[in-house]
Amino acid sequence: MSQVPQLRLYNTLTRQKEDFAPIDAARVRLYVCGPTVYVFAHIGNARPIIVFDVLNRLLRHLYGTTAVTYVRNITDVDDKINARAAERGISIRALTEETARIFHEDVAALGCLPPDVEPRATEHIAEMITIIEKLIAADHAYAAEGHVLFSVPSMSDYGQLSRRPLDEMIAGARVDVAAYKRDDMDFVLWKPSKDHEPGWESPWGRGRPGWHIECSAMSWKHLGETFDIHGGGIDLVFPHHENEIAQSRCAFGHDVMANVWMHNGFLQVEGEKMSKSLGNFITIRQLLATDDFGGQKWAGDVLRLAMLRTHYRQPIDWTARALDETQKTLENWADIVARHKIGSAQPVPHATIVDALLDDLNTAAAFAALAELAKAARHDYSSAQNLANTATWLGFDTSAWFTRAEEAAGDHLDPAFKAEVERLVAARLDARAQKNFAESDRLRDELAAKGVQLKDGKGANGEAVTTWEVKR
Ligand code: AMP
Ligand code: ZN
Repeated sequence: MSQVPQLRLYNTLTRQKEDFAPIDAARVRLYVCGPTVYVFAHIGNARPIIVFDVLNRLLRHLYGTTAVTYVRNITDVDDKINARAAERGISIRALTEETARIFHEDVAALGCLPPDVEPRATEHIAEMITIIEKLIAADHAYAAEGHVLFSVPSMSDYGQLSRRPLDEMIAGARVDVAAYKRDDMDFVLWKPSKDHEPGWESPWGRGRPGWHIECSAMSWKHLGETFDIHGGGIDLVFPHHENEIAQSRCAFGHDVMANVWMHNGFLQVEGEKMSKSLGNFITIRQLLATDDFGGQKWAGDVLRLAMLRTHYRQPIDWTARALDETQKTLENWADIVARHKIGSAQPVPHATIVDALLDDLNTAAAFAALAELAKAARHDYSSAQNLANTATWLGFDTSAWFTRAEEAAGDHLDPAFKAEVERLVAARLDARAQKNFAESDRLRDELAAKGVQLKDGKGANGEAVTTWEVKR
């Protein structure tokens, strides 16, 4: 494994970029917090899905497809789900199934690979109860009035991830004061359910889990007590990830839950925080299927590329103008590939794109490298093939590019490219006429690098003639 290129990742835990070293290079383990399924996913929710899809692809490229386990959960028990189901007058199950199905369709349209495991919270209640029992046994949690709470003061180094000042954390926790809490900062692991609420039998009576314990249980079940990378949006650092860490570390007795914690920055729309009241709340589905944003529907590829043009840790401003530019860029790439009559691609990334991604998943630099590749590809067949390969590897739907290529007749080659080839072919014929074979070989190689294959023959009067074609 010593030949694996060095990946560097920014770790929220240490606030610096670090060399990534998996615990076991034959089993690289990634966990990302997935959606709570009660409403259509908005375009902000799409950001972690797309960003960590690129990380998943990169890890597979580096360590091997079968060496990576990517787990992204579905939160299908949550009070927001109960409220929404009641509002719509449908069962909780019907709501979560419908929302999960739409989510799957949406993220597939964005070119994201499905995770290897997509655990549902409701299928991991037993694991949650086991962890809670371990925490109680170790005096890190206590039961009170049908609730079980994590005792924050029982963990001496609580708060390492978010590094929030204690008074801020206490102020945050005060939102949720309750008589049964020993300390304001203690948080819920388990809570009692009323008859009409979803609930499971437990040692503390019929109840349901708190949100944070769900991810501790699902990551444990599918990745183990400690694993490599845990990801999500920046808003999850506190309290969600801080509390996941507290639960998992105290239950299993390790110094870390995951070695690397990665967080994507927030997305805003046309310069403003996305919110229903501002009327700029936009779902993935609306962007794909309606003209509600920028007056037109947008292809999943356009949304994907628009998301990746900005580095994942930077805030991103989602604008119709940027989508428009991105659409033109993709059309230009498709054109270039079609002009070279490239009919298929291998999902293999170009080295410059891999280099950019190795530096903390610098998709902005990768995008710039792709633009360079596209520039070179205007007159160079092998760069065009590289562009097609890399775009395919990055999850873009290049099949439409290839159909265009099939339709393109021979005369659809870029005129500048054609003129350059013809100039080189003529120069080579001159060199041969002058018996300068070194030069004629050099020109043949230069043409071959552009994907041009030569056929030397004789014309009607016995003169030397060279025909050429761009090989697939
Ligand atoms: P939620 O459904 O609110 O738990 O969010 C699901 C995922 O989307 C989490 O990883 C959030 O951090 C992320 N997320 C939510 N809103 C945004 C946003 N505006 N920009 C980027 N990521 C977001
Ligand atoms: Zn989570």
